[in-house]
Amino acid sequence: MDSFDSARRLIVETAQALTRKGYLMATGGNLSLRIPGQDAFAVTPSNYDYMKMTPGDVCVLNLELKPLAGERRPSVESAMHAAIYKVRNDVNAVVHTHQVYTSALALVRASIPALFDEQARFLGRSVKLIPYAPSGTGILRDTIARHVRDHNNAYMMQNHGALVLGHDMERAVHNVEVLEKCALAYLLALCTGRKVTHIPLAAREVAMAKLRADQKKIERGDLKTGGE
Ligand SMILES: [Zn+2]
Repeated sequence: MDSFDSARRLIVETAQALTRKGYLMATGGNLSLRIPGQDAFAVTPSNYDYMKMTPGDVCVLNLELKPLAGERRPSVESAMHAAIYKVRNDVNAVVHTHQVYTSALALVRASIPALFDEQARFLGRSVKLIPYAPSGTGILRDTIARHVRDHNNAYMMQNHGALVLGHDMERAVHNVEVLEKCALAYLLALCTGRKVTHIPLAAREVAMAKLRADQKKIERGDLKTGGE
């Protein structure tokens, strides 16, 4: 049970840190962590206050959503998390938030082009919009699974929020912060009504190549990953 325990602890610590920083609000959003070496993941319970949460409240499911640990009902988005782990071997942590600036861009369907080097290096070529689908449905699960095959690490969910991936939880949290900074800067830039510039295509592609090289290392198992 040790690998479950450390993953469940990390979920609680991360959920509370993201709540304190304002990325998670009330019971909105959900996060998960792949259990190292197993076809399983730890995920936040459904509709439960992050600041009251203890490791025992965190659910552990296999990738077919069979419960392995935890008494509470798992997040309604568990199928979306499982689908991502199935199609992205480089991803070991998934954070879904309703963070405000990214959500605002998702409302106006404004995908974020490559605006900053740091953005392209960690989030990918662009932050694309995933079309609306109701929470907890097979339609949302399948739409997400289709979109995340493009190797980017951040997406906007139309009329919903943000979806952020990482090779570990620390990187996923970092990517949440990079995304929100980009979203705010883009929103402010758009508000001026002036033309918004992008980084040069060559710079974007160099950054993306570095991100892909990192991802391939994880896929081959060269880097230590997961909840340790
Ligand atoms: Zn949500």
